[in-house]
This record gives sequence, C-alpha cells and structure tokens, in this order.
Amino acid sequence: MAQSDIQTVPAAHGKAFRMRQGQSVRLINTHGSQVVDCWAWRDPEMSEYMSMEATRVWNQRLNPVVGDSLVTNLRNPILTVVEDTSPGVHDSFMAACSRERYERLGVSGYHRNCFDNMIEAVAALGLTIPNPSLASLNIFMNIAVKEDGRSLDTRPTVTRAGDHITFRADMDCIVAFSACPQDIVGIQADGDNTPRDVQFAILDDDFADVPTSPSWVPER
Ligand SMILES: [Zn+2]
Repeated sequence: MAQSDIQTVPAAHGKAFRMRQGQSVRLINTHGSQVVDCWAWRDPEMSEYMSMEATRVWNQRLNPVVGDSLVTNLRNPILTVVEDTSPGVHDSFMAACSRERYERLGVSGYHRNCFDNMIEAVAALGLTIPNPSLASLNIFMNIAVKEDGRSLDTRPTVTRAGDHITFRADMDCIVAFSACPQDIVGIQADGDNTPRDVQFAILDDDFADVPTSPSWVPER
C-alpha cells in the first residue's frame, strides 16, 4: 500500500486536495467525536459536483454505506465508499453549517463554519468553486429518522476514536473536508461538544478495482 503522509484537518477548519481516478482517501475520526462535512468536484470542470440528492436516487438509500457510489449532478460516480470501520452512521440530509446558521442560533459576530471552510480550503489550491452548495455529505453525523418516518432527530456521533471511512475516486476530482465547527447544537460526542482535529491519508490504488454501484432503475 502506497500511502501519503497522514494529514490533519485542524478542528473547525477545512482542507481540500486533489485525487486521481483510482486513488482513495482514508478519513480517520481521530478522537471519535467529530463530524466532517465533505464536498467533491470533477477536476478540472468544477461545475460538475457531488450531489446528495442525485446520490439518494442512485442508491435508493437515505445515506450511503460501503459499496455505494456518490454521484454528481450529471449522474456520474465521483466517489465510492470502499471501507468503513465506524458504525456506518453518516448523513446526507443536513445542510452544512454556514455563517447565517450561527446567526440564527444566536451567535453575535463571526463563527467559523463548514461552508466558509470549504471555500477557503479550495481557494488554498488556487481554485474558485463556480456554484458552492450547502449540500454536503456529513461524515459520521448522526441524524436519525424518528418513528413517525418523517421527522429527524439530531444526535451526537456514535463513532469510536480511530474509526475510519475510505472513499475511492471514480474520476479525477477535488475533495474538501471540514472538521465541523458546530459547538452549539449537540452533534459532537465528546461531552462538551468541542470540535476536534481529524486526519486523512491518500492511498494509491488499493481499491482501484472495486466496482461502482449501479444506478437504480425500477423493475418493469
Ligand atoms: Zn459544520
């Protein structure tokens, strides 16, 4: 296994990086408590981006599991979940936190947020996102569907320290992670809801042969 150095996404900050088709990224929940928002774009045509709504149609699932591909607004697989040692609880429903979200939560003054982290992280690569979106894959985030089948319940993560999930790139792409700065709504499971660092590493071709998941079509 060829693996890049372990890199850190500092608590409440973001980091973006490029992957070639066939490479993978392993994201480690170092402290076990941290939610990580994730976006991806085709490289270099960033007008094609990972779409949570198209991914739910593709897999006919609320949230992705191992073997599921995440697809773009043009319905092309961009990432496939190839490994997950966590309990497999992730979220594709909740909008990323943003400056306005914290204003609505009563914060006065600027609060770091995943949306700005994503834009800053991609800008550090010298790139501008043509159509930045609040729709992120919220890795390790625990949003349960209540028994009525309609309502959502926001809960703390159930991940253990060191749990990791791995995504294989299905096209040349740019990926952004944000170690969510949320410290008001109780989503981080460390007791005091404090954002923590997470780590990641790029793997070369370990999972290059894993198939993408097929697009769902109804039986006729
Ligand atoms: Zn956030």
